[in-house]
Amino acid sequence: MNAREAQEHLEPDPASADALVDLSGVVCDDRFGGPHPRSLDRLGPVVEALVRRTGDRRVRVHAVARPDLGGPAGGYPSAEHPRLLADWVGRGLVAEFPDAGGALLELAELTGLPVVSDDGFEEHRELFPWIQGDTGRFLGVRRRSGGGVSVRRRDMGVHAPGARPPRAGEPGPGAPRPLPDGERLPLVRALQRSWRCPRRRCALYGRDRGAPDRVPELRGGRPVCEEHGADLVDEGPRASLVELKLLVDGECVHRFTLDREGAVVVGRAPGEGGIPLHPHLPPDVAARVSRAHLEVTVRDGEALVRNLSAKGTYLRVRGSVDLRRLGGSRPRVLVVNDVVELVSAVALTRGARRYPPEPVRAWQAAARRARGTGAGEAPADGGG
Ligand SMILES: [Zn+2]
Repeated sequence: MNAREAQEHLEPDPASADALVDLSGVVCDDRFGGPHPRSLDRLGPVVEALVRRTGDRRVRVHAVARPDLGGPAGGYPSAEHPRLLADWVGRGLVAEFPDAGGALLELAELTGLPVVSDDGFEEHRELFPWIQGDTGRFLGVRRRSGGGVSVRRRDMGVHAPGARPPRAGEPGPGAPRPLPDGERLPLVRALQRSWRCPRRRCALYGRDRGAPDRVPELRGGRPVCEEHGADLVDEGPRASLVELKLLVDGECVHRFTLDREGAVVVGRAPGEGGIPLHPHLPPDVAARVSRAHLEVTVRDGEALVRNLSAKGTYLRVRGSVDLRRLGGSRPRVLVVNDVVELVSAVALTRGARRYPPEPVRAWQAAARRARGTGAGEAPADGGG
């Protein structure tokens, strides 16, 4: 897969992506993809690795780059590469940030998506302490013996701030670390919490009132109710969700989000409260799926799956090729990228997304304002 083919997998909306990609790191990674210091073609093998990892041939990646990745000469194999990159940035397919690492980490917090990067993020560990000791959120790029690359979970280790000598141009360990784009990090931290307005009659903020996806306004870094001007009260972490992707012939055709605890029946036409698959399947394919085929239960952020169909349901654990028939009554835990096959060519897989899209879109609007490129009053619906 070359750069032009990989372009089809670039997703401007991080809330609709399957992974975040440190594009600067990938493009400059000369361990693979030819001898040149930079090559956009390196994105192709990384996308192929993510296709294998997710089981989704249409896997979507949100790519973040530093503005200095382009440039007229830039060490690319040809002048077409920087031109293509400029085109991607202009069309919003690649997001540029002076502090691309900080932006990636903020997006990782807001979406729950994995980050494809071999960066150690040493200078970000103070602001993002969850990096220390993490073994699940970062995917490193590794050469495969048969050609191409794979993406593997990284052990980020525990590093003291400033343990590595600073490279030229980097602030030293004692230098102040500026907040990325100033306003975004307080917003990220606010978006990860649930908020309640102290006014009892307020209809905007509160666990049992208002819209759960509502994004608070920040004044001086503190979330306030825009109706009453009062400081909002922290009600704890924002509820996470479970994302299911419907795959037909290995391509994602629809995404479902389960945003509350409890059981939901999935099938061709499972009836009230269930998730019907027939609108998303060709009629002949839908006919092979049972009316109520399986049940997914969300509990403490975990997803459990149980077969309900006489035709059976089969599970392929992430990275394996073996299909195992799900036993009758005992539910199985479904982890990200596990594939549940209902009938031949129709499968559900658990996506990586863990949070609703509204916080991510509020973040994007703030980032656009900070860069002075947005309309300022970006609508919360994101406009597709
Ligand atoms: Zn209020």
